[in-house]
Amino acid sequence: KEEHIRKPDWLKIKLNTNDNYMGLKKMMREKNLHTVCEEARCPNIHECWGTRRTATFMILGDVCTRACRFCAVKTGLPNELDLAEPERVADSVQLMNLKHVVVTAVARDDLKDGGSQVFAETVRAIRRKSPFTSIEVLPSDMGGVFENIKTLMDAKPDIMNYNVETVRRLTPRVRARATYDRTLEFLRRAKELNPDIPTKSSIMVGLGETKEEILETMDDLRANHVDIVTLGQYLQPSKKHLKVQKYYHPDEFAELREAAMEKGFSHCEAGPLVRSSYHADEQVNAAAKA
Ligand code: SF4
Ligand code: SF4
Repeated sequence: KEEHIRKPDWLKIKLNTNDNYMGLKKMMREKNLHTVCEEARCPNIHECWGTRRTATFMILGDVCTRACRFCAVKTGLPNELDLAEPERVADSVQLMNLKHVVVTAVARDDLKDGGSQVFAETVRAIRRKSPFTSIEVLPSDMGGVFENIKTLMDAKPDIMNYNVETVRRLTPRVRARATYDRTLEFLRRAKELNPDIPTKSSIMVGLGETKEEILETMDDLRANHVDIVTLGQYLQPSKKHLKVQKYYHPDEFAELREAAMEKGFSHCEAGPLVRSSYHADEQVNAAAKA
């Protein structure tokens, strides 16, 4: 039998369900939309949807052509490309009256453009319907084709977020197909295409990395002009996924945050429940001030 480390108390939180939240869930089903907030059973959903008015939509279907070993998204044959999805996402953003929206997507290795055109159209549709909502994109590497990054950057999101996820040594075990160096190159190229758009990346901790390796990853991100970094605790979505090697204490997150700010990031969120999109609304302003 496999040994599991016990989950510390600071990760046990109670979910409460209110009417607003149930209504939003129903709307998502009716419009056939997917949110990471629901699918990843994110512990922050009430705070994000209710108080902060933030949500993370997952577009291009709910089945990924890859199978990263930390990720809860289903793997398999992709859904048919849905060209009406951008408008439906934009309608929901408007209905939810979101202040900040994160749009992410499964990897579509079956599509030549990696899904970048529908992605860009989603950004434009949201902008048309909700001009005051800040838009953050969190794409896959879109096949590693740099033309696809340009397609997305041309839609002018407010934040370009592309996650490095883990340190260099663990990348081959943790991520499918994506490489560490290509991730850095993706972020650098995005910045070169439009230096006014802040770039952002997230590191999950608890996969067996050392503190030095985390600091090195921060250095690599800074060397490629990344503005914002987030650090959160990896949680195992199911027994098939990679095991948690360590639960970081909130104090350790505070230390990592301090180190990140010393390295020159304009903003850093770090904490046990921090997800890539957590408190993202604050980062838009922080990046604008930087
Ligand atoms: Fe959704 Fe991200 Fe908030 Fe979680 S942290 S509820 S995924 S917006
Ligand atoms: Fe999950 Fe993204 Fe990996 Fe697909 S590419 S398995 S959505 S992390």
